[in-house]
Amino acid sequence: MKQKTPPSKSNFIRVIIDNDLKSDSFKTRRWNGKPAPMSAQKSAAIDTAKIRTRFPPEPNGYLHIGHAKSIFLNFGLAQDYGGVCHLRFDDTNPEKEEIEYVNSIRENVNWLGFNWDNHEYFSSDYFEILYEFAIALIDAGFAYVDSLSSEEMREYRGTLTEPGRNSPFRTRTKEENLALFQEMREGKHADGVHVLRLKIDMESPNINLRDPVAYRIKHAIHHRTKNKWPIYPNYDFTHGISDSLENITHSICTLEFEDHRPLYDWLNQKLLALGFLQNPLPQQIEFARLNLSHVVLSKRKLIQLVKENHVDGWDDPRMPTLVGARRRGYPPAGLRLFTDRIGVAKADSWIDYSILEDCMRETLNESSMRKIAVLNPIKLLIQNFDQNRAEICYAPNHPKKKELGSREISLSNELWIEREDFSEDPPKGYFRLFVGNTVRLRYGYVVKCTGFETDQQGAIKTVFCEYYPDSKSGTDGADNYKVKGNIHWIDAKSASKAKVILYDRLFNEERPGKSGDFTDDLNSNSKQIIEAQIEHSLNLAQTGDCFQFERHGYFTVDPSSEGLDQLVFNRTVTLRDRWKK
Ligand code: ATP
Ligand code: MG
Repeated sequence: MKQKTPPSKSNFIRVIIDNDLKSDSFKTRRWNGKPAPMSAQKSAAIDTAKIRTRFPPEPNGYLHIGHAKSIFLNFGLAQDYGGVCHLRFDDTNPEKEEIEYVNSIRENVNWLGFNWDNHEYFSSDYFEILYEFAIALIDAGFAYVDSLSSEEMREYRGTLTEPGRNSPFRTRTKEENLALFQEMREGKHADGVHVLRLKIDMESPNINLRDPVAYRIKHAIHHRTKNKWPIYPNYDFTHGISDSLENITHSICTLEFEDHRPLYDWLNQKLLALGFLQNPLPQQIEFARLNLSHVVLSKRKLIQLVKENHVDGWDDPRMPTLVGARRRGYPPAGLRLFTDRIGVAKADSWIDYSILEDCMRETLNESSMRKIAVLNPIKLLIQNFDQNRAEICYAPNHPKKKELGSREISLSNELWIEREDFSEDPPKGYFRLFVGNTVRLRYGYVVKCTGFETDQQGAIKTVFCEYYPDSKSGTDGADNYKVKGNIHWIDAKSASKAKVILYDRLFNEERPGKSGDFTDDLNSNSKQIIEAQIEHSLNLAQTGDCFQFERHGYFTVDPSSEGLDQLVFNRTVTLRDRWKK
C-alpha cells in the first residue's frame, strides 16, 4: 500500500499511532523463537517502523456492517500510514467454522476496496507453535492441567464480588502437567475431561485473570487442520500470540475486550520473558463497536434470522450483512462515508439507521444515472395526439453532470403515469392531474386533464387529456406555460415491465429485542413486491447497476434478473427519509 498524505481526520487511535511513530522503540521485529511458521515469516521479514494492523474475523458467519467499520479502520489506518493490514481468520472453533465463510469474508474485504497482498493468515496455521508455547508455559510454571468439571470450574471461579478459589489440581507438578497435556494432544482423553489453564491469580478482581482456560479438548474436525488436533486453543490464548507472531503493532478491537487486555499483555509478557518474543509487544486498543438501530449486528442473531426463514438468506437485501448490503445496492463508497461520519470513539453509542441511508443517498446521488420508472401505473391517453406518432424527447442522464448527456425517450398517445398523480377529488394544494387541471409531462408537453375511466370496482383505469403542441420542453413555446405540476411518465408502447422490490426497516423497534425476543420486533411489512413499468433504455441494465428512478429513489438490478425475461430491481433507498419523526 502506498504512502498517502497524512490523514486529516484525527481520532484517539491516530493520536496513539502518531506518538508511536515518533518513538525510537517502534520496531516491529519481535519473533524470537524457533523457526516461525511460514505464514508468520512472511511478515516478520519486514522490520521497518511501519504500522501493522489486522482484521481478525472468525469464519463462523457472514460479515456485517459493524465489521465494515472495523475493516475501514484497520485497512484504512494501514493505507493512510503506509503500513500493512493483515487478514487473519481466527479459526479456533472447529464446529462453527466453514470455508464458505472464509470465501465470503475475502470477497467482502475486496468489495470494500482493500487487498491484503500475501498477508492472509489463519490462526490454525499457528496451532503447532501455540502448542509449543503452551508447553513452555507449563515448563515455566505458568500453566497447569485442570481436571475439574466445567460446573466445578464455574463454582471455583467466584463472582464479580467474590474471589475465586484455587483448583485442587493447581499444584500438579510440572512433570504431571506435561504428561497430561501431551496425552490431551494425543487424543487420549474425552472432551471436557481436562483443560489447560494459565496460572495467574484466582483472586484477581478481573475474572479474565482467574486462571483462564488456554486449551480445551475437542474431538472435532477443523475445516483446515481436519482431525489433526483433538485440542484447541482458546481465543484469548490464540489472539495475542498470533498478533505477536505477525508483528502486529496496533491490535484494534471492540470495547468488550477491554477487560481481556491484562490477559493479552500477561501472556505476551510471559513469552517475552521466556525469550520467545521480542519487544515491543503489540498493543491492544479498544474502540466502541457499531450499534445500528432497526437491525441486529450479532452473528448469532443473523444466523437465526436465516435459519428460521425470517429473511431470504444471508444476502437478503434487508440484512445488515455485507452481502445483503451489496445486493441492496449500497455502494462501498457509501459505507466508507458512513464510517467516516460516525467516527471512532471510546464510548458505546447507537447510530440511527437513517444516518446510514443518508450516506447512501449522498453517494448514489453523485454516481447514479437517472431513469424513469412508474411504480404504480395507470394509463394516460392523449386524445389529440396521433396514435401512430412516436415523438422523441430528451431526458438528462444526471441533472448536475451535463457531461453525462441525455437520452432519447419516446412519447406516444398512450403513456403510463403514477396512480398517485391523478386525483378524482383533489385535496387542497394538489397540483397534479385532476379534471380541468394542466400539468407538464416532464421533458415533454403540457397537458390538460379532460376525464377519466374506472374499472368495475371503481378504481381508476385510464385518465384522458389533451396536449398543447407548442408547449414542448426545450422549445421556445414552453415558457408560455406556467403550470405547478410536473409529473413523470413513460411511453406505454415502448416501456417494459419490471418487478420492483421495495424494502423497509427489517425491525420496527430501534433496538430489536430490547424488551423480549428480538424476532418479535420484526417488521412484517419490510418487503413489498410490485409490478412496475420502466423506460426502454433500462433493458440493457445488468446485475448490480444502480439508478435513480426520478421521484422514487435509488434502485439496483437484482441478480435474480438473470435468465428472466424481465428485470428485477431492489429499492436501495428512497429519495427522502420516510422515518423522520
Ligand atoms: P459477533 O459478536 O456478532 O459474533 P464478532 O465480533 O465476534 O461478532 P468477529 O469475527 O470476531 O465477530 O469480528 C471480527 C472483527 O470485527 C473483530 O475485531 C471485532 O471486534 C470487529 N467487529 C465485530 N462487530 C463489530 C461492530 N459491530 N462494530 C465494529 N467492529 C466490529
Ligand atoms: Mg469475536
